[in-house]
Amino acid sequence: MASIQLQGKIFIIGEIEAMTGLHIGGSAGELDIGGVDKPVIRNPLTREPYIPGSSLRGKMRSLLDRHLNKPLRRDRPQVRVHECNRLADYKECSVCQVFGIAPSRNMEDTMPTRLIVRDALLTAETRERFNEIDTDMLYTEVKTEVVIDRITSAATPRQNERVPAEATFGPLEMVHSLYTLDTGSEGSVDSEIALFDTVLMGMELIEDDYLGGSGSRGSGKIAFRKLKVIFKSRKHYENPQSVPIATLAEGDGVSALRKADYQSQISAAMQA
Ligand SMILES: [Zn+2]
Repeated sequence: MASIQLQGKIFIIGEIEAMTGLHIGGSAGELDIGGVDKPVIRNPLTREPYIPGSSLRGKMRSLLDRHLNKPLRRDRPQVRVHECNRLADYKECSVCQVFGIAPSRNMEDTMPTRLIVRDALLTAETRERFNEIDTDMLYTEVKTEVVIDRITSAATPRQNERVPAEATFGPLEMVHSLYTLDTGSEGSVDSEIALFDTVLMGMELIEDDYLGGSGSRGSGKIAFRKLKVIFKSRKHYENPQSVPIATLAEGDGVSALRKADYQSQISAAMQA
């Protein structure tokens, strides 16, 4: 069996701005006051809304599955997902290589999940700003939508809790690991670096889609802001004093990040 070596980690750091109201659902069971039908997820200690890393990651993966035309199968009766079944498919599949596959698939020689997406909390700036405004609930608005009976025209209201537009969340942190089998040849590091563009593509697809619920009815447009991509090589972890962290790209919006030449910059950083 092969051994797997970590060659370095690419970090995407920044903020997420809600361009419209944002509804990432919590469980109605944890509802205490207000009585909305669809509450947002909140940190149980601070009661502040946040963006779970799993929501961001799940949305990126599902948009990539669709964009790259990945075959879907039923995971549970109501959930169709993509996950490669055979090693030959996995080795060709950037989505499964970046986002990982369930250990229960039991395939030999798959790599660990490459991408970690951390939870993004409300920024101090937004907290201060919202403290001065009288929001419906703590840092959120309640948006009433109506369902109209097609015969009687009777309107049944439903209350949807949302984080208001202009809220910012951060720090956003995504960590993409570069691995090689055995002590890798340079070619395999290049293909690892190439997988990083899948992460950026997933982020760009979200900016043009939506995060959370009610996206087709106006919620969930987000933008990635104040982005910075940095790289820590394997040598940096061994010797942080003499091998510095490399900054690979900076900018507002994901398209700015996709212009950078990661191959040459990371190769140079690995040889430092
Ligand atoms: Zn796959």
